[in-house]
Order: sequence, then structure tokens, then C-alpha cells
Amino acid sequence: MKKINLKTFFLGLMILIALLRPCAAADNLADLTVVHDQKLYKKAAFLMGTILTISVYGNDESIISSTVLKAFDEVKRLEKLMSNYMDDSELSKVNRLAGKRAFNCDPELIYVIEESLKYSVLTNGAFDITVSPVVNLWGFFANSNGDIDGSIPDDDALATVMPAVSYKNIVITPTPDSNLEENTISFKNPLTQIDLGAIGKGYAVDRVIQILKDGGIASALVNFAGNIAAYGSPGERDKWSIGLRDPKDISNIIGAFNITDKAVSTSGNYERYFIKDGKRYTHIIDPRTGFPVSGMMSVTVIADTAIEADALSTGIFVLGDKEGLALMEKLDNVEGAIIFEDESSSVFVRVTEGLSDILGLDLPDDNWHLLSSKKF
Ligand code: AMP
Ligand code: MG
Repeated sequence: MKKINLKTFFLGLMILIALLRPCAAADNLADLTVVHDQKLYKKAAFLMGTILTISVYGNDESIISSTVLKAFDEVKRLEKLMSNYMDDSELSKVNRLAGKRAFNCDPELIYVIEESLKYSVLTNGAFDITVSPVVNLWGFFANSNGDIDGSIPDDDALATVMPAVSYKNIVITPTPDSNLEENTISFKNPLTQIDLGAIGKGYAVDRVIQILKDGGIASALVNFAGNIAAYGSPGERDKWSIGLRDPKDISNIIGAFNITDKAVSTSGNYERYFIKDGKRYTHIIDPRTGFPVSGMMSVTVIADTAIEADALSTGIFVLGDKEGLALMEKLDNVEGAIIFEDESSSVFVRVTEGLSDILGLDLPDDNWHLLSSKKF
């Protein structure tokens, strides 16, 4: 993406974003536009407490319609597996029982938990699904209205739950005397709890993509609250355009890049937060301190799978700009951008070398600074 074409590019992008904007779940697919012989269809549904939007190019409406509905059903199924809001989900059972005894757990949930443990090791403990009791103390879990009621916890309450926060407290062992597929899960600390909020939607997006591909859909973009994956060619273009959000004003974008056969996840300090005495406390917690990460504004990760992008964007948010960028540069097929601010509210952007090749960037004003990256 050359800078000279940025204006035209952004105009096109704004049109695309307008087209992809989630709408309330409708009974029928919205037939939005026709490009060559391909139509763009879009459908949104409220799942896992947020909006999942599927956009598809194709021309066989009945196949598209049944496949997209199958994809929504799959996410409903996954919600029953991974939700910590539903009392009867498999994860809620784990959270109730694994601190008392070994719990014989669904293999798919074990898979997501084992993937999570992999990213804990990779990020040196920055990504940690056992941060749940601390997230709860800070009031970052949404209530039934989807709102949060955050406050700073007292030191004693935090000190009581902190020993429970470590991915090393999760023990997974093959079930004795049963088929090899089965595993038990137990917690070394009785207060340990698991929250898959930082990885579950990514896994769900990968499953949706698989269902769309299996259904014969040649081109699609899935957007699940900042967890995006896209494949194929949209209409007459080669790739899908993805905007990089301005964390200070989320109705704006500060840049854009094109992808296909890739996943993109953004973790942002604007998702869930509260402000106390002028300071913002956001929902991503440093598991080493039990405190919300401050200074970081957003982390966007591009990877081959949505589960990887989701886990890494959260983990890198905790690692910070320098360690986070180094990790992305080290990993194969991973690129990304980190936006953060200092005490004087200057905003800085760090971009991996690979992303700087394809990113069109248009920083809002002189308060913004692009760090490193020789490509710009
Ligand atoms: P995401 O939006 O994917 O970055 O996920 C953020 C959510 O993950 C939060 O709302 C918490 O429920 C949970 N979370 C917070 N801090 C962490 C962490 N360090 N590791 C894993 N999950 C976390
Ligand atoms: Mg995440």
C-alpha cells in the first residue's frame, strides 16, 4: 500500500466498513450489493455476549444461508462449552469442581485450555486464563445488562486470590481406565478459576471459518468483537481491507491493510474499563501484579489462526511494547501493531517489519509518533 493512494484507499475502505457494519440479527440474509456476478451477503447474531458478523461473497443464496446458520449454531454450541456466564456450561462445571477433585472434562475444552497453556509459556506468563478471580475482583465481568461495575479491590482481597492465579495451577492428566481421548482437569489451588474471554472467541472464529469452507463458500470475512478472519477474494478485489482503529476515538481508523487467509485480533483499552480519579483501569490484567495494564492502548496481531491472534493480542498487551514487538518479530507468520501512550499522553505506534510493508498509516496529529520500522 503506497501512501499516495491512501485517500482513495480510505474512501473505499470506509464504504466497505459501512457495508460490513453489524446489524441486528435478521431472519434473512441481507443482500447488500452485487459485484460482478458475486453478491455480498451479511448476517449478524448476538452470541457469547457480543455480536458475530459473517460477510460472504457468492451467488447461491440457499447454500450461503444454510451454511451461515450452521456457523451460528456452532458458536451456540461453543458457548455451552466455554462460557463462564452460563452455570451449566462445561467450563462452569470445571470451575466449580476442579478445585475439589479431578474433573473428567470434554476433550474440546481440554484442547482450548491446553492451547491457552501454550500461550502462557510463550508469553512467559503474561497470558494466563487463571486471571479470572482477579478480573472478578476488579469488577470487569459484565452483568446481565452487559455493563461492568468496576472498582479498585482492597489489598487483602487481592492478596487472598493472587496465589490462585497461575496457569501452573492447572493440572491435566489422562483419565485412568478410559479411552485415550479423555482427560481430567484439576486445580492445585481451590480458588483457581478459568476465564477463556481472551481466547474463546478466537477459537470460535476458527471453527466458523472451517464451517464456511466446508460449506463450499469461496470468500468470507468473520468479525467477532475484534476477532477477525478472512479468506478468498471479496468481489473484484484480491484481499479484504482491515482498518486499524484509533484507540482514542474508536469511530476512526488510523490505518488499513489488506489480508486474505489470515486472522487479525485487537485487544484494546477501550473495550471494558472504568475511570477513577482521572485514571483509566482496563480489563486486561497483569497476572504477575493483579493490576490492570496501564499505558497500553491497543495491540493488533495478524496470525494464521484466530485462536493464535486472540491469545497473542492479549498476552502482548501485558508484555508491553518492546517485549511484545520482539515476540511478534520472533514468531513465524505473526505480524502486528502496538499503540501506547506515555504520562504526557503522547501516543506511540510500533509496527512489525512485515506489517509495515502492507500498512497504510495516517496518524491523526503531531501528538502521535511512529517508532522504529525503517519502512515508513
Ligand atoms: P481480549 O479482549 O481478547 O484481550 O481478552 C480480554 C479478556 O480476557 C478480559 O476481559 C479478561 O476476561 C481476560 N483477561 C484479562 N487479563 C488477561 C490475561 N493477562 N490473560 C488472559 N486473559 C486475560
Ligand atoms: Mg485475546
